[in-house]
Amino acid sequence: MIDELRTEIERLRAQTRPLEPDSYQRRELGGRALDHALGFLDRVEDAPSLRSASEAFAQRLEVEFTEDGRDPAAVLDYVGACIENPGIATTSPRFMGYIPGGGLFHSALGDMLAAASNKYSGFAPAAPGAVRIENACTQWLASVIGYPETAAGTLTSGGSLANLTAMVAARDARDPEGGGAVYLTRFAHHCVDKALHIAGRGRAPKRVIATDANYRMLVEALEEALERDSRAGVRPWLVVASAGTVDTGSVDPLPEIAELCRRHGAWFHVDGAYGGLFALCDEGRTKLTGIEQADSVALDPHKTLFLPYGTGAVVVRDGRHLIDAFSASAEYIRPFSETDVGPSPADLSPELTRHFRAMRLWLPLQIAGVAAFRAAQGEKLALARYFHSRLSEIDGFDPGPSPNLSVVAFRYLPKSGDVDDFNERLIKHVQDEGRVMLSGTRIHGRFYLRCAILCFRTHIEHVDEAVDAVVRGVKALSG
Ligand SMILES: *Cc1c(COP(=O)(O)O)cnc(C)c1O
Repeated sequence: MIDELRTEIERLRAQTRPLEPDSYQRRELGGRALDHALGFLDRVEDAPSLRSASEAFAQRLEVEFTEDGRDPAAVLDYVGACIENPGIATTSPRFMGYIPGGGLFHSALGDMLAAASNKYSGFAPAAPGAVRIENACTQWLASVIGYPETAAGTLTSGGSLANLTAMVAARDARDPEGGGAVYLTRFAHHCVDKALHIAGRGRAPKRVIATDANYRMLVEALEEALERDSRAGVRPWLVVASAGTVDTGSVDPLPEIAELCRRHGAWFHVDGAYGGLFALCDEGRTKLTGIEQADSVALDPHKTLFLPYGTGAVVVRDGRHLIDAFSASAEYIRPFSETDVGPSPADLSPELTRHFRAMRLWLPLQIAGVAAFRAAQGEKLALARYFHSRLSEIDGFDPGPSPNLSVVAFRYLPKSGDVDDFNERLIKHVQDEGRVMLSGTRIHGRFYLRCAILCFRTHIEHVDEAVDAVVRGVKALSG
């Protein structure tokens, strides 16, 4: 009986061998994968920023899994042709659509290191070093915002989950019974609505506050709404301000909003997924004055710190609110100082077992140094002003208001014909060329082109190319 079992176990064991390549095979496979990634990066400067699916899928390999596995070279070819090529090249210096980031190479290496050692970063006793790094990263992010040491934070998969995490903390702290009202502008990111819905506050009374000519929340309108609710017996619960709207990069008047929130006892949340981390550079910090007065801030290192996708962060000024909302067991509710490495990430977030995300943030900051990040952000802000100035000098363009951060929403005003229709054809022309990737949006019903400059690889010659692409488009459509 035991002998039979032994034979069966040995047979199965032999079949598991492909799961653990030996030392030589690991070097061989690792070298191939690294070469592949390096080759991709070597081509990034010149590759199109947008490619149609049909072009890439001309070369096809079955996506289905096989019982016995495939040759790694064929699999890597597939990765190149059918995964890396089609669609938008978010790594391109000429990708200025949506909110770019670029994807730092150091972070890719950090991911590899994190996955290879597979430390259990959810729980301090299991991986004290990993948790120390995670807490150091969130404390650093909090300090960039200007938060005091009472702050706590957690790394999330992105800005949407960061906003959700903050909203749950805000709910537990200020609206446990429900019924409190929410205040935001129509330029708030749609993930805020989604977060309210998931947090069980989708039916909370919602006040959409009017905006000024720069798409910023009108303080007087907010004040009026808060006072009207207070008079009517509706409790102001949550004010969501934007530090960088997606459409135009507008920053709401944060200090004034903070003051109103204090007066009315409302939780002040700032969605800084796009703009919040500009606080790292001098110009950004000035523009974001007041963000440090927020009760919570959602951030997106995969945008404004140029990381690969999958890293957001939320920071809460009084860190106890995060622990209150997410600690599963009362045993964990103790002062941070009681553990050597700070709180366990699992006590600050809805997740338990999780990717060791901090490594992809920590490694580039360690190796490249903070000054390079600060300079890159300053460069992007200056490039947006440069793009705006260049358009202002070309006949026929409405360059929109001067950029708050690094997004410019603009349009061309043709001498005749429908303006929206012309600009929709203009964005299509630019995108069909595939050289420069810009996006479009509707503001107050009008169609605008958006140039969002935030890839760390984007420099002045790429912004010049963007201007050229738009001018070429106008010529082609007017011809
Ligand atoms: C990108 C963005 C979000 C959503 O973040 P994800 O990382 O895409 O989940 C939310 N708010 C703003 C202002 C953003 O720019």
